[in-house]
Amino acid sequence: MFEGPVQDLIDELGRLPGIGPKSAQRLAFHILATEEADITRLQEALAKVKAGVVFCEVCGNVSEKPRCRICGDSRRDATLVCVVEEPKDVMAVERTREFRGRYHVLGGALDPMGGVGPDQLRVRELLRRIGGSPASPGEDDAAGEPEPEIAEVILAMDPNTEGEATATYLVRLLRDFPGLSVTKLASGLPMGGDLEFADELTLGRALAGRRPTAM
Ligand code: ZN
Repeated sequence: MFEGPVQDLIDELGRLPGIGPKSAQRLAFHILATEEADITRLQEALAKVKAGVVFCEVCGNVSEKPRCRICGDSRRDATLVCVVEEPKDVMAVERTREFRGRYHVLGGALDPMGGVGPDQLRVRELLRRIGGSPASPGEDDAAGEPEPEIAEVILAMDPNTEGEATATYLVRLLRDFPGLSVTKLASGLPMGGDLEFADELTLGRALAGRRPTAM
């Protein structure tokens, strides 16, 4: 245990995902040795992240506006929706440059042991999107035109147990929609990993080679 502010910082950093006590300590002392200007930038970024970022009302991705850049882009194919767990997975798929559709961010994966059930994820919102909900009043211009119907949903969960369970659950729900094609990434992604850690080429291939899910 250190004294006062240093220990406070170690405690706070240690609460971040993936940061163990040793990393928290190392980061804290790194920050302690950092120049004032760099600290100020970090502080500003931290302060702004909550105030300036919202979640897109359509897809749940992080956004600066009520509707994110991708959902607001009429050149993107609105009939094709790639379902991912986290906003960082949107970035991963975007990096492949293979995908010209839209996204749906669930906000995590099913994890009954960790207390994450379907109600904690944006599953209802996905069903509503597929079901074709009328544009609600009070939305911006883009909401004026009816969105084209979703023809294909690509399930792009993390290649791990929770991701598999989530995909299986969604397949069961989505098979009730007539005419909807539900596909999954082709195998080839390293099992147990995170979508964001797959290299662009591998992920791009998995996307291009996606296959229908067994209904
Ligand atoms: Zn969006």
